Amino acid sequence: MNKQSIVIFPGDEIGPEITTEAIKIIDFFNESKLTNISYDFADIGGAALDKYNTPITADALEKAKKSDAVLLASVGTPKYDNNVRDQKPEYGLLTLRKYLNLFINIRPIFVFNSLSSYSSLKPELINDLDIVIIRELIGDVYFGEPRGFKDVGGERVGYNTMLYSESEVKRITQFAIETANKRKKQITSVDKANVLECSQLWRQTVDRIMSQHQDINLQHIYVDNAAMQIIKNPKQFDVILTPNLFGDILSDAASMLTGSIGLLPSASLSDSIGMFEPIHGSAPDIAGQGIVNPLAMILSLAMMFEYTLEKPELSKIIKQAVNDVLNEGYFTKDLSSNDFVTTSEMGDKVLDKLKQLC
Ligand code: NAD
Repeated sequence: MNKQSIVIFPGDEIGPEITTEAIKIIDFFNESKLTNISYDFADIGGAALDKYNTPITADALEKAKKSDAVLLASVGTPKYDNNVRDQKPEYGLLTLRKYLNLFINIRPIFVFNSLSSYSSLKPELINDLDIVIIRELIGDVYFGEPRGFKDVGGERVGYNTMLYSESEVKRITQFAIETANKRKKQITSVDKANVLECSQLWRQTVDRIMSQHQDINLQHIYVDNAAMQIIKNPKQFDVILTPNLFGDILSDAASMLTGSIGLLPSASLSDSIGMFEPIHGSAPDIAGQGIVNPLAMILSLAMMFEYTLEKPELSKIIKQAVNDVLNEGYFTKDLSSNDFVTTSEMGDKVLDKLKQLC
């Protein structure tokens, strides 16, 4: 079996706790000869600032680029909240995404049926929910120039630039089309074309590309309406295509449909590499207490097997194991505040289940 190498960034706060649970699974697959994965660690965010005084080093970027895939836990810590932009932990993550050219972000929003009563919505609205958000990840206002602070009329102002080129919109639209073709052939593209030129270009470009794909049902939706519709009737969506900023916000809102942000994985892809990470952040409010939900991280590992390591069967088994553990009523504190298992117990439950399934 070919050796595959991955780089793991545990990152900050709850990051190392959830990383431990994912590694248990990699070790088990390696010991069972189902995989031949070598893994190495690198620092990002506050962890890198502590050691190297930078949120990501050139070495770490290179190591990630040379690997077959990257697994990342979470970035951000209040310790460095007041740093200037390029010395903030989150800048390390933006730099890594840009360096690896990860322009595609895939966020599946699905509900484990045993959790349908944990959603903030009625079970009938979310039973069997299965949406995928395709978010552009390395453009938009997060990266647009100019940006900064300046004095205007004697007062300080902060400013950013929302910017997309046609080629950036085209390549993410093409990925949404590939995804839609494997699903229900339905795309909803999100913008704010009624007020933003950047969104008008987005919409015109999406229309142009989609005119060659008449078999796919395309709808455009303003982001404010999208936020409302996701909560009102989420099952009307299948593939949601969105720019970076709107996707960031909508996917957190959509995560609540599933019961907890601690359940949702994501994949970020370039033409040649993939990075896999939970959609949640570093949750400093619960770090170090053994109460974080590791399932988003474990399901991110499942996405790594599906999208990059070419072992879709292992991805399916991990999802099955998670589903079975939840069906048996084991929940972390985010889902059950009275009767819950710890982070490490949840990792062990999934591992035990995997041992039965493999
Ligand atoms: P967050 O996602 O870290 O936390 C939001 C809420 O969800 C908190 O109440 C937290 O306790 C809870 N939560 C998150 N993950 C959980 C899990 N696995 N299990 C149980 N509960 C969980 O978002 P935030 O509080 O806005 O940000 C905290 C830090 O994370 C900031 O520094 C922010 O910049 C950073 N952040 C990083 C990423 C990333 O690494 N991709 C994403 C978002 C935010």
